[in-house]
Amino acid sequence: MLKPFIRPHVAHSQDGPVVDFSHVTVRYEGARPALDDVSFQLWRGERIAIVGPNGAGKSTLLKVAAGILQPTSGRVTVYGHGASGHICIGYVPQRSQVDWKFPVTVSDVVLMGRIARIGLLRHAGRRDRDLVRESLAQVGATNLADRQIGELSGGQQQRVFIARALAQEAELLLMDEPLTGLDAPSQEAIFEILDLLRGRRITVLVSTHDLQLAAERFDRQMLLKRKLLAFGQPGDVLTPEHLRLAYGTQLTVLPGPDGLLALGDTCCDGDEHDHA
Ligand code: ADP
Ligand code: MG
Repeated sequence: MLKPFIRPHVAHSQDGPVVDFSHVTVRYEGARPALDDVSFQLWRGERIAIVGPNGAGKSTLLKVAAGILQPTSGRVTVYGHGASGHICIGYVPQRSQVDWKFPVTVSDVVLMGRIARIGLLRHAGRRDRDLVRESLAQVGATNLADRQIGELSGGQQQRVFIARALAQEAELLLMDEPLTGLDAPSQEAIFEILDLLRGRRITVLVSTHDLQLAAERFDRQMLLKRKLLAFGQPGDVLTPEHLRLAYGTQLTVLPGPDGLLALGDTCCDGDEHDHA
């Protein structure tokens, strides 16, 4: 069992929200902000999907939560503290943002999660190596340990990044479109691992283009288009009205099984298409 490691100077407040965005605005350049006055709270052990068209600000929101990007205005806390440099945050970037040619093995990638914990100047000890092995086993990637990360399939890569977050003993996992481009069995394998994380009450925030998966496999959904259009249960969030607001007229709304909307994914929103 992985024990949470808590640095004394960033003692977590356990009774508050895990993630707290208060009036967060991000402006890169130009008049229109990428995130516009976004406020929400996430609670321990929740699994949340962020949906919204391309350019909606999903990746930006995840980077702000990870502490990689500072908001232009507003306040973000993770376990009651500023997000930047938080050791308990595991962040998995969008696949297109990773340099897959970087010559590094799977166990190196997972060990990086330990280095985040122990600091660069200390050698990885036996416990670190044990944790790397354990984490790889938990995502079913033991046999991949010595492979180059760039050789793996998309699903295997995502599993390895989850293993890194496990080795890091992350309590908040942020994943940017981990399901995109995966076949159904690979997606299923990711959800099995997410179930394991849920058992440990790790909070998981995932961006996705797949509205059906978002509705069926997550506790709550966030519908984003620069502003947070809706946040809550699928029946309240993924309504035809909200979806038209987010996706415009390109959306195909179909009657789905058990009353759920089965939705054709339209990812392009005219001028905002960023080919990400
Ligand atoms: P999503 O992940 O939902 O597709 P992003 O967060 O990537 O949305 O982008 C939101 C908006 O911010 C887009 O209009 C995008 O072009 C812009 N943007 C994203 N990253 C940058 C950046 N580094 N510099 C300037 N503009 C950016
Ligand atoms: Mg994105």
